[in-house]
Amino acid sequence: MTQPSSSILIIGGGTAGWLTACYLARHFDIAGSKDIAITLVESSAIGTIGVGEGGFPTLRTTLQFLGIDERAFIRQTSATFKQGIRFDNWRTAPEGSPKHSYFHPFEAPLHAQDQNLVELWLALDPATRPGFGEAVTIQQHVSAAARGPKGADDGDFTAPLSYAYHFDAERLSAVLAARATELGVIRIDDRLLAAERGPEGLAGVRFERSGTLRADLYIDCTGLNAELIGGVLAEPLTSVRNHLFTDRALACRISNASKNADLPSHTVATAHEAGWFWDIALRDRRGIGCVYSSDYLDDERAVALLAAYPGVGKAAAEGARLICFEPGYRKHHWVGNCVAVGLSAGFVEPLEATGIVMIEAAAAMIAEFWAPEGPVTAAAERFNALMAKRYDNLVSFLKLHYCLSDRPEPFWRANADPQSVPSALSALLEEWRWRIPSRFDVAHGTDTFAHFSYQYVLYGMNFATILRTRSAATEGDFFRQIRMYGEQASRDLPSHRVLIDQINAN
Ligand SMILES: Cc1cc2nc3c(=O)[nH]c(=O)nc-3n(C[C@H](O)[C@H](O)[C@H](O)COP(=O)(O)OP(=O)(O)OC[C@H]3O[C@@H](n4cnc5c(N)ncnc54)[C@H](O)[C@@H]3O)c2cc1C
Repeated sequence: MTQPSSSILIIGGGTAGWLTACYLARHFDIAGSKDIAITLVESSAIGTIGVGEGGFPTLRTTLQFLGIDERAFIRQTSATFKQGIRFDNWRTAPEGSPKHSYFHPFEAPLHAQDQNLVELWLALDPATRPGFGEAVTIQQHVSAAARGPKGADDGDFTAPLSYAYHFDAERLSAVLAARATELGVIRIDDRLLAAERGPEGLAGVRFERSGTLRADLYIDCTGLNAELIGGVLAEPLTSVRNHLFTDRALACRISNASKNADLPSHTVATAHEAGWFWDIALRDRRGIGCVYSSDYLDDERAVALLAAYPGVGKAAAEGARLICFEPGYRKHHWVGNCVAVGLSAGFVEPLEATGIVMIEAAAAMIAEFWAPEGPVTAAAERFNALMAKRYDNLVSFLKLHYCLSDRPEPFWRANADPQSVPSALSALLEEWRWRIPSRFDVAHGTDTFAHFSYQYVLYGMNFATILRTRSAATEGDFFRQIRMYGEQASRDLPSHRVLIDQINAN
């Protein structure tokens, strides 16, 4: 039998490790070609972070590429469909004013013949017009009616409406691990102790039982421990806390109130005095978390806020797991022959559920940039430049959710302080006072979010773009029509609960 000519050693078996392993095994067809060996070492004694349960639509393409059956994935991870995020109380605090809420759907705004619907919406009377997300797409109607994004007979990964998933994080890692081993990845359960430096970066990694393992490419997926990139290679984390203030999360799980109640197909993100709560409905339980800034809220008060969140209570809040993180990323994820993927590379808060999208982007870039026989320097430089820009753009997009708030608490006033807004975002906000966010504002390859995602957040937060005044005579008609389509789709599409139950019954 011929020996593989190249080898990849991945350390860490969370979502980052197993997704990267699967992706590279599939990309390089290691089972078929036998040219490259991929080994993944994880420590069952250390375990994984166990959070990260909201997905992004790109996961559909990734799962399909990996050859994972959608229905089996839904059954095995207790998954539900996700059509977007509803943001409650972000612009104003709930006391003394009507609750403010807006929706960020995955669908782009609809097109009207020769008419820009965003312009038409801006021309409507701000006092009486429907919310932006509600006006320009049918997805908000469908999700609010607790309908699924697809019919029971729609094929795997396809649907009339764009969607992602909510899933159990640990079971996602298990599904990816099972697929990776089918694809030829070798799994070892062991603990990393140290690593040797060499001219290329690393010369080998030493484990408790397996001794020293050597490879051509080392991938550090050791989560917040960042054993290789942060520990051995001492690549610093660049903090973005001057822009994004949250640095802690309390995570808990509660059972679903009733197996027959409506099953939400969107994440709910509710702002509180110094951060926000996530609320994610899986088939058999809810995942709820309190994200906050330790500069503005102490842990005890965070537990009290979580306990008061609907459905949680004192016992679940007191048993919640505290996760501390420094928001930021490493300017060099890839140093010599070692590249970091996942939490070891960086993490900014989970408001738009972007942790796994960053992993997907990194895995795809490694697959396409790394030439097993070629030099690594140029690939590393390109990778680092693209990932750094991707993080900067993400920080701006997340900051947009905070900086337009009118909430009075100190955390929110500090977030609205222009000094805390990244300069690239400040410049765009100035332009967007006079024009709508355009597709040319975002770049393929370095932006996670499309221009219309910026529109949903901006106009959801009541940002004013001043355009030429137009006649409002026919404008309302478009939006009435969209509402009718939304109502029709809500009748035609199955209940989300029924759809998920059907998938689980098969
Ligand atoms: C509060 C919070 C909420 C989040 N929500 C979302 C979300 O909704 N959507 C989303 O996409 N992302 C989310 N994320 C990010 C997401 O959780 C991560 O991107 C994802 O889980 C990947 O984690 P990981 O694999 O990098 O790390 P981990 O899951 O921590 O895995 C690290 C692995 O390394 C191993 N390891 C560590 N040290 C050693 C050692 N010395 N020797 C051997 N093995 C070792 C561990 O055993 C483990 O297998 C969230 C993150 C946080 C903190």
